[in-house]
Amino acid sequence: MKNSRLKLEIGFEGDPDEGRGTSVEESASWGWFRVFVDDINLCQHVANSQVSDRVHWYLLPLLEWFVENWDSLLHEIKLPSSFVDALSARQGFRTFNPYRSTEVNDAENSDDAEQREAAVFDWAERHSIRTSAAGGIFPDIFFRRARNEIEISWGHTRVQGAPNDLRFLAPAGQVLLDPLQTASHLYKAIKQATEALSNRTPQCVRLSKLSAELASLHEPRTMLQAAWMAGIGGSAQASEAILARLTHEWGRYHRDLIVPPSGEALVIGRAPAAVLMFGSLSPSVNEDDVRALVTLLKDAADHNNGTLRLPMIEHGEPGINAWEHGYALANLSRRAMGVPETPYKVNLVELLSQSGIEKRDVTLSDTKIRAISICGEGLRSLIAINQSSKHNESEPGLRFTLAHELCHLLFDEEEGAPLAVASGPWAPAAIEKRANAFAAMFLMPADACRALLNEYSLHGGLNKNTIATIADAFGTGKVATLRHLQNLGLVDADEVADIEEELAN
Ligand SMILES: [Zn+2]
Repeated sequence: MKNSRLKLEIGFEGDPDEGRGTSVEESASWGWFRVFVDDINLCQHVANSQVSDRVHWYLLPLLEWFVENWDSLLHEIKLPSSFVDALSARQGFRTFNPYRSTEVNDAENSDDAEQREAAVFDWAERHSIRTSAAGGIFPDIFFRRARNEIEISWGHTRVQGAPNDLRFLAPAGQVLLDPLQTASHLYKAIKQATEALSNRTPQCVRLSKLSAELASLHEPRTMLQAAWMAGIGGSAQASEAILARLTHEWGRYHRDLIVPPSGEALVIGRAPAAVLMFGSLSPSVNEDDVRALVTLLKDAADHNNGTLRLPMIEHGEPGINAWEHGYALANLSRRAMGVPETPYKVNLVELLSQSGIEKRDVTLSDTKIRAISICGEGLRSLIAINQSSKHNESEPGLRFTLAHELCHLLFDEEEGAPLAVASGPWAPAAIEKRANAFAAMFLMPADACRALLNEYSLHGGLNKNTIATIADAFGTGKVATLRHLQNLGLVDADEVADIEEELAN
């Protein structure tokens, strides 16, 4: 996946409408473009029974859009809260329904729906290539940042006013790309196109402005780009101000945790640990929480004991199915860490301490964050449990959190980059799903589930008491245990529904 490449090609032709109904400079920008991801042409489409491998339209607004939104396109991680846990930007946007509340309660009015819709469309302006189509028929492509990579997602979506048979042919998909390579390629393609257009319409004010703004993308503005990545405080400017305050306070000793290295001005290739961690916090996180987390990182850097004793485990093929992948990694990890089959209840505290992972508490005002994981070169490995999350109030809930965080520590550190992630709704959806599956299987291996079910079902069949006994043996929650047995195909949906009802009473 990481070796995928983006290619943008742009060419100009004579305006078939000969300038009627548009400005001189837009008319001169009539032409075509193609976007390739590896060998997939995202612009290939059928319209009026003809297959075309490029999209034709007035392209000046497209060039302006890329330049204007450059920093958000390549740095903004967070999706709107309406689809915060979508697996890609496009998938989230295309399933977004402003009138379906994401909150549990139904006390909702149309003002909320309107606000959600406005927030989503503001965000789409910064990420969806279609928002620059200005009446043309563009492919449905989204750009956004995903931690240390650029995510591109695409698929076919209807366009109003398009020919009835219009269809973009590339099957829906997404890839993660190298930021430096992607930014440099995009920049070159846009620069070439802007120069060609300037030759076609010399002395055009709009084009001079575009050229100047394009050139200014080479001016360093690392903190603003980091601010887009961190996505805290409600706007890029607010985010930048918070980062500036933190840098002022701690930057002298721990600059590399907060400030990105100055390198290529076009894009941040690798983000500092704090910035990545902020990327997994709610956009409305308060500054006290931000400080508490930076303090954790600072401590991890100051007290690096270098004794992480986690086994190296081969990842396998990522991204196919986060859930299955989590299961497979849990089985591998149990073996590699020498976890005995019995007692069924894994001694997590001992296991973490043997592995050199410190467990500590933190109290954040954000109750949706379950825990923070930190590890990487030069950092002490630690799991900080958020005392204000209600998941961590019960022992089974806490055990699930610890096993989930263990998955992050084992598998989510990127090569050469530290890991700092806050588990909650704003953490990357794919690694969260995988960590949840991992936790379930690590605490409740399939063979042990079968053995216990056989043993207890002999006495009076499956009911809430059987589930309670099994959950007790594993040290897991009753509902979590029941769900896991269902996911393993050991209990069918009817039985689950009955027992859930019993458990609720
Ligand atoms: Zn997590």
